[in-house]
Amino acid sequence: METDVADVEQAVSTGRLPGWDRVETLIGAAYERYLPHTGGAVADYIPILAAADPGIFGLSVAEVDGGVHRAGAADTEFTIQSISKAFVYALVCDELGHEVVRDRVGVDNTGLGFDSVIAIELNAGHPMNPMVNAGALATTALVPGATPAEQWERIRTGLSRFAGHQLPLDGAVYHSESLTNQRNRAIARLLESYGRIDLDPLQVVDVYTRQCSLRVSARDLAVMGATLADGGVNPATGERAVSPEVCRDTLSVLAANGMYERSGDWLFEIGLPAKSGVAGGIVAVAPGKGAIGTFSAPLDSAGNSVRGQRAIAYLSRALGLNIFASAAHSPTGRSVTA
Ligand code: GLN
Repeated sequence: METDVADVEQAVSTGRLPGWDRVETLIGAAYERYLPHTGGAVADYIPILAAADPGIFGLSVAEVDGGVHRAGAADTEFTIQSISKAFVYALVCDELGHEVVRDRVGVDNTGLGFDSVIAIELNAGHPMNPMVNAGALATTALVPGATPAEQWERIRTGLSRFAGHQLPLDGAVYHSESLTNQRNRAIARLLESYGRIDLDPLQVVDVYTRQCSLRVSARDLAVMGATLADGGVNPATGERAVSPEVCRDTLSVLAANGMYERSGDWLFEIGLPAKSGVAGGIVAVAPGKGAIGTFSAPLDSAGNSVRGQRAIAYLSRALGLNIFASAAHSPTGRSVTA
């Protein structure tokens, strides 16, 4: 990925965010800096997404103390798409435990695109990780519930707990994707053939398509991410969504896989676990501090929002969020006390 933050002073992680005013200043600066950026192309393989306005740009930072910063169209709604995978994975881990999901779905990067069929074949039918479509379908199939309707209700309620309010379904996007998701149906059938999905694969695809069609804003994504940064407690409502162990596991899976085949590049440039979706959302999580949510529809070739990536690169650097950045405790070298 391309970033342009060499001119931004590299702050290092202090264990907390800078003060409120500094975050306000920097989120405003990130908005101004990247609003004119025109790189990328709006997704069109789900027909209705092609109508998105490429100029809309929203940013939000949610802190673990409950404070929320906003810039631009932070309250404009769009569909969550693949970002739902992170939160459904967390819910399923919370219900079934780390080991079951690790065995059934995996945690390793495929190195291939999010909707790869070859990745399944290359790995003897193993879906590899929950952040690509194969693994997400396998994860959705594990959501407890006697019927698809019960599973869907559980997902909607669970994701709404992360956001702090009831997330609405975008019926038009759900309909548009349902008519054109032959590839996901093929992936689910392939997983079924390998014994990786026990339920009716087409019903699993339907529940998955619904979860992808939930509407969120950049602000919602920031609060949902801040819940993962806050040991599973929503900082806005005080309600627990999942356990601290599940947050830890989910964030490590995001670090390895959240930006698909670009996850290594992303971690190298930005140093935060993150998840993107094809409608143009990204959430990036700074454990113990908070999260950034962004919305801008134009994407790069891996399906990651171009403006969103750049703005998060800027904020990660300026706010000192990169989890790998440190400064010497004693700048002149080791202080030896006899
Ligand atoms: N619903 C989309 C799909 O399954 C989500 C993909 C994405 O956001 N990368 O194709």
